[in-house]
Amino acid sequence: MTDLLFVDASQVVTCAGPPRARRGAEMRDAGVHAGWAVAVRDERIVDVGPQAALEREFAGAERIDCRGGVLTPGLVDSHTHAIFGRARYEEQEMRAAGVPYMEIARRGGGIHASVRDTRSRTEDELVALAAPRLMRLASYGTTTVEVKSGYGLTTESELTQLRAIARLSAMLPLRLVPTWLGAHEIPLEYRESGEARASYVKLLIDHMLPAVTREQLAKFADVFCEPGVFTTDETRRILTAARQAGLALKLHADELEPAGGAELAAQLGATSADHLAAISPRGIEALAGSQTVATLLPGTMLFLGKGTQAPARALIDSGAAVALATDFNPGTSPTVNFPLMLTLGVSQLRMSVAEVMLAATVNGAAALDLAERVGQLAAGFSADLALFDAEDVRELPYWYGDRRCRGSWVRGKPCHPYELPLT
Ligand SMILES: [Zn+2]
Repeated sequence: MTDLLFVDASQVVTCAGPPRARRGAEMRDAGVHAGWAVAVRDERIVDVGPQAALEREFAGAERIDCRGGVLTPGLVDSHTHAIFGRARYEEQEMRAAGVPYMEIARRGGGIHASVRDTRSRTEDELVALAAPRLMRLASYGTTTVEVKSGYGLTTESELTQLRAIARLSAMLPLRLVPTWLGAHEIPLEYRESGEARASYVKLLIDHMLPAVTREQLAKFADVFCEPGVFTTDETRRILTAARQAGLALKLHADELEPAGGAELAAQLGATSADHLAAISPRGIEALAGSQTVATLLPGTMLFLGKGTQAPARALIDSGAAVALATDFNPGTSPTVNFPLMLTLGVSQLRMSVAEVMLAATVNGAAALDLAERVGQLAAGFSADLALFDAEDVRELPYWYGDRRCRGSWVRGKPCHPYELPLT
């Protein structure tokens, strides 16, 4: 394969450093360099540095002209629910009019609407619906996307979603990471009694989990740990079983109430604890003292009109590793625009531009146990890059809502723009 040399960028943002999550003061410098170039051989980055030196060393390489744009590591979206059937736009106005969630659910909306719909879909339909959505994510500069199941809530339907993710992973130029989220919600048919509820937890552990691991369909297991959904005790049981079965762990934690989800994530050694809009001071302390990445989803709080956000400043200042992600899903965050999360990171979470860049690259990769391969422009890392129409990295959060990504590459191959193959 020909060597590639990315030249004439106004800035190369390397995010280079140790191959692990960055925390506290380590998040102050994203490595912004003018006059640098990036050399790629096969699927990897082989050199990053001043352009004149690289032009001599890689004289025979195919030149990719960045035309004065900003070159960054491909963005890593470590939390999405991109496999679903129909959209749920009718709920937005109801929410604005003050209709409570329980009433929206009674009128046929809410998460159970997505469950009903997803259960009725074939694997082929889910693939056909998700492929263009994932490529829209890519069109904003995202090159790695975590995708969760969790709208099936039966063994067969969860497997169908995960098999669809596996097919999309083989078919699309993006890097996909599959997560089993059978514990997204207690399905309606298990809600009449405590016993019924307990039998769903038993189904998850004894039946669904072994089926998922038998086909090697997931890298992570995730649980929605929140009062009214799965308790911390149920979450512990499900995730302990998942770890024994060889999966790494994630939690939806402390989104609405500080119920100890962050503390549990730290105790279990989970790879990430996500949401955290209602995390307690003890939760912050627990994450700061652990390897668990705190993944914040500011688009969800914005879309729901909450008016509050996760305490990013307190988390970073106490030494926790913070990542940002879209939470792309049909109910609470229907956005494919990862750079908009950078805007919210600066304007609402009060993070610096260096912090949001590292949160969207290195720390997103750490939230997927990929920090040794992805998230940096540095020798040895996978050639996952994104090129933005901007002269300065500070323009990425600044032009909010705009789509500035001009191109992206995964493993040295074009990811965006990309023509979807006909299926
Ligand atoms: Zn989620």
